Amino acid sequence: MPVVRGLGLGALSALCFSLAAHAGPLVVIDPGHGGSQDGAAAESGLLEKNVALALAKKLKAALEKELSATAVLTRERDSLVHLSDRVAWANRQKPDLFISLHANSMPTQRQRKVIEGIETYFLSAHASHEDARKVAARENAEIPQAKKAQNNDTLAFILADLQRSEAHADSSRLAYMVHEQLIAATKAVDRGVQQAPFFVLMGLDAPAILVEVGFISHPGEGARLADEAYQDTLAKAVALGVKNFFQTVEKRDGRPAR
Ligand SMILES: [Zn+2]
Repeated sequence: MPVVRGLGLGALSALCFSLAAHAGPLVVIDPGHGGSQDGAAAESGLLEKNVALALAKKLKAALEKELSATAVLTRERDSLVHLSDRVAWANRQKPDLFISLHANSMPTQRQRKVIEGIETYFLSAHASHEDARKVAARENAEIPQAKKAQNNDTLAFILADLQRSEAHADSSRLAYMVHEQLIAATKAVDRGVQQAPFFVLMGLDAPAILVEVGFISHPGEGARLADEAYQDTLAKAVALGVKNFFQTVEKRDGRPAR
């Protein structure tokens, strides 16, 4: 073991400890909203922030079981964490990828009755269509006005070289792989992989996606989102998509993510 020759016992045990602490890839899971920010709400009183947190905990367990990954959450309880703090904290963890979890909603009674399905997003300067723009606007709504202007500058800066970034290409790859598993496992309405300017995906150094796991506003899908067994199905599907993504990246790069 030439690499450890010359290291003192203390350094060696520190090295072993850090390898043990990060045996697999590191994934940051971001449960949307929290605290005073409820996110979307169902007629039943079910809140997006609670669905997102329950699902995040299940996804953490699935990633740790299926991939031997290490998964950490941007919030572990019903607390308010600002979007910019989520991004800064996530980058400090130096994760291999970032997954933000949300539930979708429609504004009018007529739309709430009929619109359902899953959408998976990655960051783009321009929304893929009008519905995607509205979803990003709703998810960005908790940013204070003053910060919005500042973030718009940051957005322009980041998006200027986004096309060249490997993380961006991998975000797209990850989005398709996760989305494919979600639709296969749930048989939910496939609303496709979309692009939109989400603040919580801006400035992340790792591949990053945002999953709208279903419409909390739809009577049928909203009820399913509250169901533990359905949440398990969603979590396992995302974990399987992540597993496929890491295997593809490993083949391409010739080394594991971590
Ligand atoms: Zn949301």
